[in-house]
Amino acid sequence: MSSDLQLSLFDNSQNTSFVTDSIPTNVKIPIPPGTYQNIQQITEHCNRCHRCELGNSRTHAVIGRGNPQAKILIVGEAPGQNEDETGLPFVGRSGQLLDKILESVGLNTETDVFIANVIKCRPPNNRPPTAKEIEACKPYLLEQIRILDPKIILLTGATALKGLLSDKRPISKIRGQWIEWENRLCMPIFHPSYLLRNPSREPETPKWFMWQDMQVIKAKLDELKEQL
Ligand code: URA
Repeated sequence: MSSDLQLSLFDNSQNTSFVTDSIPTNVKIPIPPGTYQNIQQITEHCNRCHRCELGNSRTHAVIGRGNPQAKILIVGEAPGQNEDETGLPFVGRSGQLLDKILESVGLNTETDVFIANVIKCRPPNNRPPTAKEIEACKPYLLEQIRILDPKIILLTGATALKGLLSDKRPISKIRGQWIEWENRLCMPIFHPSYLLRNPSREPETPKWFMWQDMQVIKAKLDELKEQL
């Protein structure tokens, strides 16, 4: 056997790219940290992904919007109809409310945060994603987080909290609390669609709590910026 051929037996680069190419079609293929170099590569895989059945009905995978350099990552549940049509997260009614909530503490959606979801494809009739769908999609989110490297992660609603941190406590019990995870500060907050259903601004109502939480988040962001 020639020495070139012998050496090529040790070269697994072709094998690696073959395995990487199979990620979107085979849920059994793991997605180890470092698989992707940038968000575009994740987007490309997600748009041809069939790791779960949601790939059969999606128009667009929804990866994110906002500033990839932002210190704050906001994680929602799953795309709805508007998001599936546009390929952008939080562009429907709850997205408009989220924009306003951020604006109320002087944050701009396009420059101060990046917004993503636990799962990238729309579940039929906007039902909550199943545990299987979340598991299939979670490695994409973990890669997103690794690449974006946010210092603060806001988990909007129970699906985001459970999906990322496997924490099953109700949002109403732990909203507003910082949870340290992988050297980042996570805070569970109410999902904007819950606030749409609970519009009162009276003290101790969901909207009032959200306002308190946003001020704490803004203060932490300012503190982190000062440390740099
Ligand atoms: N739109 C999203 O992108 N995510 C949600 O969780 C809700 C609406």
